[in-house]
Amino acid sequence: MATDWNLSPAPESTSHANIAKQYELFINGEFQKPISGKYFDTINPADETLLSSIAEAGDDDVDKAMKAAKAAHKSWSKISGKERGKYIYRIARMIQEKSREFAVIESLDGGKPIGESRDIDVPLAAAHFFYYAGWADKLDYAFPMRKPKSLGVAAQIIPWNFPLLMAAWKIAPALACGNTVVLKPAETTPLTALKLAEVIQEAGLPKGVVNIITGDGRTGAAMTAHPIPNKLAFTGSTPVGKSIYKAALEGNKKVTLELGGKAANIIFDDAPIEAAVEGIINGIYFNQGHVCCAGSRLFVQESVYEEVLAKLKKRIGNLIVGDPMDKNTDIGAINSKEQLHTINRYIEIGREEGAEIYQPECDLPTKGNWCRPTLFTNVAQSNRIAQEEIFGPVLAIQTFRTIDEVIDKANNTSYGLSAGVWTDKGSKIFQLTKALKAGVVWANTYNKFDPTSPFGGYKESGFGREGGMHGLEAYLKFTV
Ligand code: ADP
Repeated sequence: MATDWNLSPAPESTSHANIAKQYELFINGEFQKPISGKYFDTINPADETLLSSIAEAGDDDVDKAMKAAKAAHKSWSKISGKERGKYIYRIARMIQEKSREFAVIESLDGGKPIGESRDIDVPLAAAHFFYYAGWADKLDYAFPMRKPKSLGVAAQIIPWNFPLLMAAWKIAPALACGNTVVLKPAETTPLTALKLAEVIQEAGLPKGVVNIITGDGRTGAAMTAHPIPNKLAFTGSTPVGKSIYKAALEGNKKVTLELGGKAANIIFDDAPIEAAVEGIINGIYFNQGHVCCAGSRLFVQESVYEEVLAKLKKRIGNLIVGDPMDKNTDIGAINSKEQLHTINRYIEIGREEGAEIYQPECDLPTKGNWCRPTLFTNVAQSNRIAQEEIFGPVLAIQTFRTIDEVIDKANNTSYGLSAGVWTDKGSKIFQLTKALKAGVVWANTYNKFDPTSPFGGYKESGFGREGGMHGLEAYLKFTV
């Protein structure tokens, strides 16, 4: 993974994680028990041990959190941008200071390799808070003549693949723009959002400015149906995204949706092949393929197909699958039994569709949720494995002869989130970045993220942009 945000030395011991036996709901600046008294378990997907008991927010708790956020908005939206920026900056600093603990907890709860949590998720989360802290007092400069104003309360629902990072993507710009927040992490990965709640409490944010509540889809649905939020922000699956869109229409709320993807990575015969192979590996196997912009389709120009395939097979044979806490691990645990089942079902579908499977031999732990890196050749454009999002370490490979052919094939999907192009020719890059219907097109790199860059999709991948200045617009209204 390409990133410039490395911060801390290697965490390797779980003793760095201070995980409580039970977590409550963070509402109005305090940790509160759920009114129903209900809790659910969060499990380590690598060894199936219980990590903690998590409060389940019912409708009454959602209502409390929304009211707290609404009350807090009155003063939060009126304090100066400079003051808001200081609070946001403080959160960024505290994430940095606790980066080791955040990284360990993220890997324990989600199954991702510790090297990724440490080098990517946590530093990039801090970077988002730093970046948006800087915007808080510059909104009038960012949008001259348009008189930007906060929207009010933002209800934010995030998925389980990048829990802390997604919380940062959502919370930081919302606060910078003067909104208050009710955020819900996914039910399989609530722990880093709850640690973030502790940080927010310690940072002394005014009560109710950020509320973090936990629960499953029912809690999420109660949040989106609630009359208070003025804005719904969602990252997750396309079917749930569609239901949130309906809720936004019914409630007349502003909405941004960052949904699924089926990204094409395209290798031309003039590409730097070694770098391209690394990019393909990173594109699909990073974070077990639990990435909405995963490069899950590979198109290779026919003349270099055999060479690329041989190199890919060799490379995936060297990937280390196993203990997320081992800093040499490349592929950690699949996040949940349900997700493992979905991935395995797609692997069966690929075989049934007549595609040819390749998986390297590797010893997998006896407990936990594991999937070997998988690639399919002999894939037809109409195959389900070439059309549907799998959200796992499964690559579908096709070939092409001409640039027009690959543009057609790459765009022949219901999604439009991201794509990658590998070529030595700048002219091809320009042609493809225009022709590919994708929100982000990487050239000779992949999975490169930065708080300054907008991110978001077209078609079934959703709409609205997060990151950069575009990420501010999503949390503002303009009076002119
Ligand atoms: P996945 O299918 O990969 O688990 P989801 O889209 O179901 O992804 O989950 C993403 C987030 O959306 C999670 O926080 C989840 O609890 C939440 N969620 C699930 N169903 C709903 C719903 N109907 N309304 C609002 N939020 C939901």
